Amino acid sequence: MAGTAVRGRLKPLTWQIATVADAVDETPRVRTIVLDVPDWSGHRAGQHLDVRLTAEDGYRAEREYSIASAPGEPVAITVERLEDGEVSPYLTEELRAGDGIELRGPIGGYFVWDGEDAGPLLLVAGGSGVVPLRAMVRHRQRAGSDVPVRLLYSSRTLDDVIYREELDEVRDGIEVVYTLTRERPPGWTGYDRRVDADLLREVAWRAGDGARAFVCGPTSFVEAVAKGLVDLGYPPARVKTERFGATGS
Ligand SMILES: Cc1cc2nc3c(=O)[nH]c(=O)nc-3n(C[C@H](O)[C@H](O)[C@H](O)COP(=O)(O)OP(=O)(O)OC[C@H]3O[C@@H](n4cnc5c(N)ncnc54)[C@H](O)[C@@H]3O)c2cc1C
Repeated sequence: MAGTAVRGRLKPLTWQIATVADAVDETPRVRTIVLDVPDWSGHRAGQHLDVRLTAEDGYRAEREYSIASAPGEPVAITVERLEDGEVSPYLTEELRAGDGIELRGPIGGYFVWDGEDAGPLLLVAGGSGVVPLRAMVRHRQRAGSDVPVRLLYSSRTLDDVIYREELDEVRDGIEVVYTLTRERPPGWTGYDRRVDADLLREVAWRAGDGARAFVCGPTSFVEAVAKGLVDLGYPPARVKTERFGATGS
């Protein structure tokens, strides 16, 4: 029976305790946490996982975090600290190598890129929205794909740019275009404005070239960029979005 076969392939996601293998500061407010996960089925570029914290009195808080590493690499998440947040201050300030952390995943089958497209790929990130897109860039490199990739990455200031060293070094068909919304440092050659219709027109692949876009960041950013791309002629089905919540910068 078809239903039985489908059910047979499904495996319920269960919470498990991963061990922090490493914690690396990316910026003053952002930390990458590399995890040793005992039961991991493997992940696709763009997926996320759930983290659960439990207080001594039993109070629990759950949050979603995109997987920052490419398929085949150790699982990693990159977390931005929100000063008044419940979960992110713990993950970015208190968690140490060797600590245990409860998680479940991988999750998501929509905002994923498996590297099979022929057309060019446009990745548009606002702030920590760069995390799943970085997994896609790394996957593109590791898989030896020759799909042209352009990453348009908006940050508040240069100090807020996550993975800067790594992104500055990508080449061979991968291009990173930065824009800073709150400063223009001396000698800066990137853009210094918010991602709007004009900026998208300058940076995005032409819609007619069969381009596909992934957009990730604060909700308001994602909605504005997705609308901008559709206005440029991108079919809505070729613009995939992931909203991290809140209003952003
Ligand atoms: C699919 C998915 C993937 C995500 N991936 C990542 C990731 O890779 N890295 C990452 O750092 N976060 C990511 N997030 C956001 C993350 O789940 C949390 O919302 C975030 O870490 C804040 O949690 P908190 O408990 O610290 O703050 P909360 O206690 O939940 O919120 C504190 C305050 O900050 C505001 N706030 C909540 N979220 C945001 C936000 N994203 N930006 C600005 N203000 C906010 C709230 O409105 C509130 O006022 C993702 C969210 C989703 C839905």
